[in-house]
Amino acid sequence: MTYEDLAARLSAIDERIADSARAAGRDPGEITRIVVTKFHPAQLVRDLHALGVGEVGENRQQELTAKRAELTDLDLRWHFIGQAQTNKAAAIRRASDVVHSVDRARLADSLHRAATDDRSLDVLVQVNLTEDADRGGSTLADAEALAEHVLGLDSLRLRGVMAVAPLDEDPASAFTRLREVADRIRLLAPDATWISAGMTGDFAEAIAAGATHLRIGSAITGPRPERG
Ligand SMILES: *Cc1c(COP(=O)(O)O)cnc(C)c1O
Repeated sequence: MTYEDLAARLSAIDERIADSARAAGRDPGEITRIVVTKFHPAQLVRDLHALGVGEVGENRQQELTAKRAELTDLDLRWHFIGQAQTNKAAAIRRASDVVHSVDRARLADSLHRAATDDRSLDVLVQVNLTEDADRGGSTLADAEALAEHVLGLDSLRLRGVMAVAPLDEDPASAFTRLREVADRIRLLAPDATWISAGMTGDFAEAIAAGATHLRIGSAITGPRPERG
């Protein structure tokens, strides 16, 4: 894709985001659009940055670490959105500004132990909206207990919740469940105002349900190259 095509796709998506926000009676300015750049080369991230993108998302630790190292000259906020192995927690912490996928107490503990200075790490509790335990995320029933656990770890700053919509359900109803758990967690942690939800195929429904952070990949970057 040429730089001009990328620019056009980015502004088209931003227009659709703004339209969806207004349709939901929301201020588009309160919604953060994270561009998911997984499997794409660092040059694409460089082009996005030149187009004003400040927030990027990656789902694999090694790729995140490599791209971040290659792009240290750019002012970017890096979001880790993938399933995290506990033994990669230190590397994830080093390479991330925000970790969206804290789905169990052991991972939170490992991220906490990996702190090397006084800066706290922004984290979200990932909630699994499906019945499939392999999809990643805490169950809805366990999410509040996990949030309380995170609140006890002083190097982590709980910012809210994250989820991916199920494939076999209307995203609007799934995101309603996410919104409910987000509201309950906010009673425990008034700072935890973020709802990370909405991808290329379902960001309008996510915005209607209150999403504050969208994770959009292919609508902006085009199809992903084969997984390497
Ligand atoms: C890849 C990915 C996205 C972006 O998906 P698109 O459908 O390309 O927008 C969002 N969230 C997560 C967790 C992902 O892995």
